[in-house]
Amino acid sequence: MNQNVSDLLEMSRVYGSDERFVVKGGGNTSLKEDGVLYVKASGHALSTIEEDGFVRMSTEALNDMWKMKFPEDPAEREKLVLQAMMDARLEGETQRPSVEALLHAIIEYRFVVHLHPAMVNGLTCSQLGEEGMKSMFPDALWIDIVNPGFILAKTVRDAQRVYLETHPRQPKVIFLQNHGVFVAGDSKEEIDQTYEHIMSTLDHYVVRKPNFSAVRVHSAKVEQFQKALGDDPSWLFLMNHELGSFLKDEESFYPLSSSFTPDHIVYSGVAPMWVDSSIFKKDDLKKELAVRIGEYQKRYEKDPKIIAVQQLGVFSVNESARTLFLDSVKVAVFTTSFGGPKFMEKSFIDFIKTWEVESYRSKILA
Ligand SMILES: [Zn+2]
Repeated sequence: MNQNVSDLLEMSRVYGSDERFVVKGGGNTSLKEDGVLYVKASGHALSTIEEDGFVRMSTEALNDMWKMKFPEDPAEREKLVLQAMMDARLEGETQRPSVEALLHAIIEYRFVVHLHPAMVNGLTCSQLGEEGMKSMFPDALWIDIVNPGFILAKTVRDAQRVYLETHPRQPKVIFLQNHGVFVAGDSKEEIDQTYEHIMSTLDHYVVRKPNFSAVRVHSAKVEQFQKALGDDPSWLFLMNHELGSFLKDEESFYPLSSSFTPDHIVYSGVAPMWVDSSIFKKDDLKKELAVRIGEYQKRYEKDPKIIAVQQLGVFSVNESARTLFLDSVKVAVFTTSFGGPKFMEKSFIDFIKTWEVESYRSKILA
């Protein structure tokens, strides 16, 4: 294994094991060397990745994709883009490259480490995210939310060209609205320094941090609700100081009421289901809960993965849903430093909901 590949592995594992940077294997990394892009294969967790967790692709073939014409229809387009990406792999490669491979390929620096840190997303998912970025990181690039995959890569490519009109080289930091950050550099040290700079700067600016300390819970009510939910699936209960303030009433729950990023949709669902405390006054809690779940299913065309109960706590359908929901709590708290939360708009949420590539990823990681 050469030095660059071992640096790539080390960075992937170090960032991938640090929960300030990565939850649930989100994010991806790459190396460009001698016309070959080593990019994380779909479905591998960064924290434990080995050399075989990377797909080798021809940078020339990837660049040639910009000469191809793809159809306007999103489903048709993404299918052909995926096929072209599969064709750009070196011979013998069998795995599917990360959906963000095309974006990795257009960045001119040797290493790219793309992550979705909660603190970064406090910025990218807030009302004043772009303004905040410009004052904190004037050399970075901001990309408004667009559909992931080909459109995202194309949008970044166009923005890089505009950037190059006033800068000698491409940006090394790209913030993606409602998504995360791409950090690029020619060495591991450079990547580390840039992440250190991003995190310490944000840490300095952020006025409020999430407080996940324990609080007293109404055990009897939790048990009552748990019983009404039934044990298939077995819902996990969660409560802490921070949730306590969000769960006061429906208005205080607003910052958690929708989706911040694609990861949140994939694991925690499109939106948490809100249940007000009056439900405990009903004669038949189980029956009433079934009615509310029915209403949720009708509205979102999915089962709820998170059920938030006023002044009680949050029930998660599984461990992944809980982990990503807690991540969105962190993001929501961080957004208070930048003008408050900005959720993904419905059209983008719908795109992710139906995006075949994302369902592939959540299936593999599950
Ligand atoms: Zn991403």
